Amino acid sequence: MARTIVVGGGISGIACAAALNDRGHAVTLLDKGRVLGGRMASRRIRDSGTPSDGHVVDIGASYFTAQDDRFRSVVERLMGLGIACAWTDTFHVASSDGIRGVKTGPVRYTSTGGLRSIVEHLAGELPDTEILSARDAGPISVEDGALMVGGEGVDAVAVCMPSPQARQLLDSGSPALAAALLATHEVTWEPVIAVTAVFDEATWREFDGIFVNDDPVITWIANDGSRRGTGAPVLVAHVQPVLAARHLTDPPAVLPAALGALQRVLGISEHPSWADAKRWTYAKPITASPQPFFLDPVIGLGLAGDAWSDGPRVETAWLSGHLLGEALADRHESAATR
Ligand SMILES: Cc1cc2nc3c(=O)[nH]c(=O)nc-3n(C[C@H](O)[C@H](O)[C@H](O)COP(=O)(O)OP(=O)(O)OC[C@H]3O[C@@H](n4cnc5c(N)ncnc54)[C@H](O)[C@@H]3O)c2cc1C
Repeated sequence: MARTIVVGGGISGIACAAALNDRGHAVTLLDKGRVLGGRMASRRIRDSGTPSDGHVVDIGASYFTAQDDRFRSVVERLMGLGIACAWTDTFHVASSDGIRGVKTGPVRYTSTGGLRSIVEHLAGELPDTEILSARDAGPISVEDGALMVGGEGVDAVAVCMPSPQARQLLDSGSPALAAALLATHEVTWEPVIAVTAVFDEATWREFDGIFVNDDPVITWIANDGSRRGTGAPVLVAHVQPVLAARHLTDPPAVLPAALGALQRVLGISEHPSWADAKRWTYAKPITASPQPFFLDPVIGLGLAGDAWSDGPRVETAWLSGHLLGEALADRHESAATR
């Protein structure tokens, strides 16, 4: 049996492992985090001194769309199991000094348990994947034509993560390989700092999410109480990339500006009882490669994630990982028949 490693336990890595398992190929999946999910990240509020302690808040991706038929069938199954649910198709639009109107778009989906629970559920369904968390994959290299991950020979590896993180893995094992592979995939990534604010009560007008245009501090506000379906007075604001970049070494320092912007846009004077800032150095690719994934069929090295094909979205990442998994399964099967 071919030894296949998937590196990355975000949605793209899990989709890649699922596609391989579906075709009968066993996988070992490594993630350096203590928990799976990557940028589909949720945390439980603790020690806020408010009734919102215990509330699960999304601090990475805000929601996901399901416009691709293949991904939609996964989402529909998850909805049938009560893991995913439709959230809204309508967000408000604001400028720096207040809400200006509403904007309707595709249905956005969420999960009552937080977006991480979707990745955890999909991982738990994998029939033939050994999952090793808190495990950095170590260098990836090619030695005498043999593919090595963390010093061990493997038949194939799928690296499912933002390209700067993939580059670190490849650079540490084989800088020439990294340069050759990633030269075709020069993607610029922008940072985000996600600010969670827990209030004693909701004094703002009802909304699900607000796109904030032309504000020097924030770009988006999510009503996490609406997203969870609990009505908890918990908001998440995303700090705009230039300001976020200036605060990557000290995310809490952005809190006064971000919370001030939140009050200004919502037209409220109340202060949150508790607030926190989560840094995403590689939050979103601002360009994408035209193809859905990369695979060197000779070496057996693949790359997938949301910078392939269609931009910074959960469904792009899922599709990229899924298609890479299918391509690796094709490769294993054609090697077996030779
Ligand atoms: C703040 C923010 C808001 C967003 N909003 C939205 C939204 O509203 N809608 C939407 O569709 N998308 C949104 N996105 C984008 C969405 O989260 C991503 O497109 C998607 O989650 C990417 O999944 P992925 O599996 O490709 O990468 P990731 O989720 O980043 O997973 C990569 C995994 O690789 C692991 N890893 C990295 N290096 C190593 C290593 N050396 N060894 C082992 N493991 C490693 C990481 O721990 C991580 O778990 C948002 C992202 C952020 C950060």
